[in-house]
Amino acid sequence: MKPIRKILCPVDCSEGSGVALEYALAFANQCKAEVHLIHVWHMNYHVRPDLSVWLEAHGQQPISAVVEKEAREETEKFLSSLSPETRSALKVHVVEGEPWRTIVDVATREQIDLIAMGTHGRSGMVHFALGSVAEKVVRHAICPVLTVRLPEKKS
Ligand code: AMP
Repeated sequence: MKPIRKILCPVDCSEGSGVALEYALAFANQCKAEVHLIHVWHMNYHVRPDLSVWLEAHGQQPISAVVEKEAREETEKFLSSLSPETRSALKVHVVEGEPWRTIVDVATREQIDLIAMGTHGRSGMVHFALGSVAEKVVRHAICPVLTVRLPEKKS
């Protein structure tokens, strides 16, 4: 087995995101690996990214800038739940693109040895309608992928 020196943990910043990060950090601790965290933001395909909105605090802004700012704030909020030592050891990527494709591309570019990520494990019609980011990453990544089933959301 190739030594595990770099682990990539993709997070959508939802409540369950931390579960896969715990695995990534535990593996990293054992293998003396570094952990990269990635959050991908993307525009809804029905919205032109050059459209602009007017914000009370910032005036006229392209929609893409607003979505990116929100993604960065969401990531910072997620990271604020970690201890300062853990936070400072992470290499954080906040990037634009289609989530599964961007995760695979960044894993290749950064020469990642293992991807650790959560999955909702949807099936049937819900899987058909929403698809699965983890499934696409497993199919396309050139490194091994560890998937962790995320807890069901309580209604
Ligand atoms: P799935 O339930 O199979 O669609 O996979 C959900 C997992 O995909 C999440 O736990 C994250 O690891 C990853 N994921 C989904 N959306 C994003 C995103 N915008 N940025 C980074 N990772 C994401």
